[in-house]
Amino acid sequence: KAEEKAPGSFELYNEEEKEKLLERLKLVEELKTALEKGEFLLHFQPIYSSLDLKPAMAEVLLRWNSERFGFLQAGSFIDILEETELIVDVGYYVFEQCLSMIKRYNLEIPISINLSPVQIKREDLPDRLSELLNKYRVPAELILLEITEGTLIEDLQKAQTLLKVLKEHGFSIVLDDFGVKYSSLSYLTRLSIDYIKIDMSFTKEVDTDERVLNVVKAIVSIANVLGAKTVAEGIERRSQLDILREIGCHYLQGFYLGKPMDIRDLLKLLRS
Ligand code: C2E
Ligand code: MG
Ligand code: MG
Ligand code: MG
Repeated sequence: KAEEKAPGSFELYNEEEKEKLLERLKLVEELKTALEKGEFLLHFQPIYSSLDLKPAMAEVLLRWNSERFGFLQAGSFIDILEETELIVDVGYYVFEQCLSMIKRYNLEIPISINLSPVQIKREDLPDRLSELLNKYRVPAELILLEITEGTLIEDLQKAQTLLKVLKEHGFSIVLDDFGVKYSSLSYLTRLSIDYIKIDMSFTKEVDTDERVLNVVKAIVSIANVLGAKTVAEGIERRSQLDILREIGCHYLQGFYLGKPMDIRDLLKLLRS
């Protein structure tokens, strides 16, 4: 096996693996300087209210306009930012940029920001986030923090404390990608969660598979019992939208309603 060889030896990788590894190393190199080169951008995807289908919130999604690789979605580089822990600095950058835009453009809808497990593990996260809120004089009520369930389940005690502190600072908590990984119902009762995001994999089949539909209905009832609002992500067609509204999902997000866009387009949308 490759890992049994001396460090630095690539002999046992085949050509294809070698290509992949080199490509990854190039990405890491470029990502290390992307922040200082100002290549990271924030896009915003509107989240609609189920009641009137008006934009009620927006999720910030990171984009990388790389000199070398072109314009990239978060999905194609976020795991590298996490593995290298570059996400910590990039994460604060996203947060700060977001606050400065809220201020500059007088945004009044809540903005939802993703936090990776790597960011969550830093003990000083809540303090640093609230320092930034003070610096920009943005009320915490305007910020939702998206955390995936995997991040929280590792250490329930820690998660409880963290969420408590974040809520004391005034942030709202969104459980992102709900239902795909661990989904322990017992932790749901122990954590204070304001929104549950129904993962895209459910939305995909909610209009074609009755069993999936029933599971989504069950998620909505659990959320209701817990006093959390539901957000469905990944809505790509009318039939998904109709069903999710019908079963009482509170908020809706997806390409069918609105794609991630730059701040100018978001402002246009909000003013129209
Ligand atoms: P996520 O938070 O679950 O975000 C949803 C992803 O699905 C986004 O991909 C979005 O562009 C995409 N999406 C939205 N609507 C649809 C749809 O109708 N159909 C399909 N097929 N896709 C849709 P993106 O921007 O590539 O982000 C991927 C992941 O990267 C995010 O998943 C989030 O976990 C992470 N991420 C994005 N921005 C940040 C950030 O600023 N900080 C951190 N820590 N993570 C981020
Ligand atoms: Mg998210
Ligand atoms: Mg998600
Ligand atoms: Mg995701």
